[in-house]
Amino acid sequence: MDWLRQLDPLWISYIAFGVLFTVVELTRPARRLRYRKTLLRDIAAALVYQFGVTTAANYICSPAGEFAKSHLSASVAALWLAPRVVVFYLAADLGSYWMHRLMHTHRLWRVHRWHHSPEQLYWLAGTRASIPQQVLFNLPTIAALPILAGAPGWLVVAILIEGMFRNNWMHANLTWRSNWLELIFVTPRYHHIHHSSDAELHDGNYGSLFTLWDRLFGTYLDPDTTRPKKFGTGEPPRDPVWMALGV
Ligand SMILES: [Zn+2]
Ligand SMILES: [Zn+2]
Repeated sequence: MDWLRQLDPLWISYIAFGVLFTVVELTRPARRLRYRKTLLRDIAAALVYQFGVTTAANYICSPAGEFAKSHLSASVAALWLAPRVVVFYLAADLGSYWMHRLMHTHRLWRVHRWHHSPEQLYWLAGTRASIPQQVLFNLPTIAALPILAGAPGWLVVAILIEGMFRNNWMHANLTWRSNWLELIFVTPRYHHIHHSSDAELHDGNYGSLFTLWDRLFGTYLDPDTTRPKKFGTGEPPRDPVWMALGV
């Protein structure tokens, strides 16, 4: 099993989550999907994202990453790690909430519309982000990195894997629901409202981890009473290459 040990843990997780979500979605789907209509396009989009968008965005963000690394403080590293992880997630998620709201403004919508283009939602359809979107979403996480000063390498890998799981999870086509979990965390039906083609609905539920920010800043839409009828942008289709570039 030497080949297995040589595989990147991120790739192992990506494949394992893909299998897991496919099985769960086929077993308990929230909506019937016509996979034949969308699967090839979604696989192509995921490949472009994994090999093109993330590579380009990481390259563009590397000066910001270096700047964050140069601000790692020994006195912060001496503090207890567990509460710092919670503060890191709160800070990064708050930044991500406002970045997301910014992307829904007239000027930046072009950066984000590729993410909203799928008309059928399931785990793979959520793997779409243009290069500028990925850069903008990377920035709050990079800005929060000094909070994790001195953290072991495995924690950084675990945070990356959690981000991957969460993106699959929030787009998953599942009947599953939990009101008590939604008091704190974003769930699939919570995020699906944000993907509605109805402009009023996609102007809500911007959160990606905590539901707190939507409740606090007036963009909360209750999944118990709000049901999206259709997904997508409601705009004429555009060339995916331009959408991936965010222009
Ligand atoms: Zn959005
Ligand atoms: Zn989404």
